[in-house]
Amino acid sequence: MENKKELRNWLDAFNLDHPLVIAGPCSAETEEQVLKIAHQLKDTDATVLRAGIWKPRTRPGNFEGVGALGLKWLQKAKEETGMLTTTEVANANHVELALAHDVDILWIGARTTVSPFIVQDIADALRGTDKTVLIKNPVNPDLSLWLGAVERFHTADIQNLGVIHRGFSTYEKTRYRNNPEWQIAIDLQNRFPDLPLILDPSHIAGRRDIIHDLSQTALDLNYDGLMVETHYDPDNAWSDAAQQITPDTLIKMMVDLKIRKTEGNEIEYNNKLNTLRTQIDVVDHQLIESLGKRMKIADQIGHLKSDNNVAILQTKRWNEILGKMILEGEQHNLSEEFILRVFKAIHQESINHQHKIALSK
Ligand code: PEP
Ligand code: MN
Repeated sequence: MENKKELRNWLDAFNLDHPLVIAGPCSAETEEQVLKIAHQLKDTDATVLRAGIWKPRTRPGNFEGVGALGLKWLQKAKEETGMLTTTEVANANHVELALAHDVDILWIGARTTVSPFIVQDIADALRGTDKTVLIKNPVNPDLSLWLGAVERFHTADIQNLGVIHRGFSTYEKTRYRNNPEWQIAIDLQNRFPDLPLILDPSHIAGRRDIIHDLSQTALDLNYDGLMVETHYDPDNAWSDAAQQITPDTLIKMMVDLKIRKTEGNEIEYNNKLNTLRTQIDVVDHQLIESLGKRMKIADQIGHLKSDNNVAILQTKRWNEILGKMILEGEQHNLSEEFILRVFKAIHQESINHQHKIALSK
């Protein structure tokens, strides 16, 4: 697949003066719930109503969706509000049912994108469709797997494509339900700048208080849209209660978010500068996290040395590290002088940490 302007035709056709907004509940629960939320979203920035009909749950025993019955509710919501509709499809049977109920946009869930066999089955079932297909990133941080899924749909002669960034699972507990790993989406965007990129802050956050900040970062990185889980009674939602926001909160968020203008030379310069600056922020954040991780390991070494009465400073080991880093630095176009300065500072911080540990024993 190559980058082409046409990749964004389906999105440009909406003619929006703001990012695309897809909103609605995690799951369709009842007919009243779907219709009520659709009406609350009708006159907002949201163009597309989302609702999960078949819910892939990591562990059994949770609410697994109302099934095909819910498609009728989506259809009714579309008739009553004029909103477009979208739902997740995870096999050929879902595709058939969703098409029969005139769902406008189909999304491929994170647990599906990981499986090339299933992705291929769905692509075959959709071959040649003029519906839009949005592909969520796979649960594991693997750009090739994500792109591979996009390519399978492209090869099945599906022109209207986009991707949804919903974060990646980690074994370690972090502040996110799914780690954003912005760099992966940025790499994808650099390779396919015209492929619409949408953020799903809800599944990254897992909690409602950081949805705004995640969305702002995405807009600063030039994303094309947001998919936000929205419910009139989030706390009592049948799935993903902690991360859903009310339609009113969504309206307020869309007012508060700084949305970039997209025309004119100066605006283009500012947009590019802003995107690059946000990319720098992402990398700086990773640097701090890596430094923190490094110091935690140094602390463990500190305990070990102090328990075994070994001196903190071990010159031979330190010289080995420096030599290796200077060589690695060269490969990344980093000068010897710079590497020396950075690693001396890091080393000093490690020694300070280890001194503190030795004194506390
Ligand atoms: C969802 O959108 O409700 C969902 C299940 O998403 P994901 O595939 O990203 O987990
Ligand atoms: Mn959900």
